Amino acid sequence: MIRNVIIIGSGPAGLTAALYTARANMQPLVIEGLEAGGQLMLTTLVENYPGYREGIMGPDLIADMRVQAEKFGAEIIQSQVTAVELCALPLVVRTAEAEFRARTVIIATGASARLLGLPSERTLMGHGVSTCATCDGYFFRGQEIAVVGGGDSAMEEALFLTKFATKVTVVHRRGTLRASKIMQDKARANAKIEWRLNAEVDQINDTTAGEVTSMMLRDVNTGARTELPVSGVFVAIGHTPNTSLFHGQIEMDANGYLLTHDGAKTSVPGVFACGDVQDHVYRQAITAAGTGCMAALDAERYLDGLPEHLQTA
Ligand code: NAP
Repeated sequence: MIRNVIIIGSGPAGLTAALYTARANMQPLVIEGLEAGGQLMLTTLVENYPGYREGIMGPDLIADMRVQAEKFGAEIIQSQVTAVELCALPLVVRTAEAEFRARTVIIATGASARLLGLPSERTLMGHGVSTCATCDGYFFRGQEIAVVGGGDSAMEEALFLTKFATKVTVVHRRGTLRASKIMQDKARANAKIEWRLNAEVDQINDTTAGEVTSMMLRDVNTGARTELPVSGVFVAIGHTPNTSLFHGQIEMDANGYLLTHDGAKTSVPGVFACGDVQDHVYRQAITAAGTGCMAALDAERYLDGLPEHLQTA
């Protein structure tokens, strides 16, 4: 069986593509991936998704999108893609359990949190080190913690964490923040936030104890090392697109984001991309959903343009 469309990923981009392709009678198969629902599953209240006057919880928004797509016939399976072959029709998508063939593929694999790359960070992940303040902030009530990063994410996480922690130290490797002025101003106005600029994280302690007790910071100008006592470290240094499956098959930019042109088209005919996997600028649920819609419409038009024998084979 050759499917009309396989959608890889199940965040707002993938689920919107599923809704549109399902309503176009393309019987989409969605392979939801390891982090089903994507980054919205890690958020609490989403106040900027149009149509929800009071806001909506991220996981509820995803649940509604799933039900809406399934209502029109989208098939969603819990599995992870392990390999793709996109050089010829039919396009091949493999999971650990099965091999699927399709005329079009929509990639909506999103982006994942970037890490510092320290061995201690990996060892203590989930034991005081986190990449998601909304998920783990509650565990640090009444404690002193740190947020690493100088962008909007770091400011947002630091501000959110002040609801729980007694002190939040923002550790940033440069003297100036990357965050937008409004976010910087908000963070600077918060008395619970302290700053360690021009500081790199050398190490997170204590891997022997299996919990975070402090971090070693190195001043980038003087090289001086100091210890900052904290019981939690939130790493908020940006994201990496989930594109390792597509290396050598689809054109990407220098940071690994898929390149799209003329809507959601990638460099491979019949393969479309939407959401954060191809967008390092806007990264919003609504823009992901918007590009998911574009990918679905582009896939539908591509399918219509295929020679008849390829449409039905
Ligand atoms: P970002 O803008 O890329 O910022 C990443 C930060 O982490 C930078 O300050 C960077 O330092 C630092 N960093 C990167 N790698 C590092 C490393 N190995 N060690 C130490 N520090 C490192 O990422 P983001 O903050 O996640 O934001 C991404 C996009 O989403 C932005 O466009 C942002 O505006 C948007 N966003 C908006 C909001 C909002 O408006 N509410 C909230 C979140 C995100 P350098 O500055 O030195 O490069």
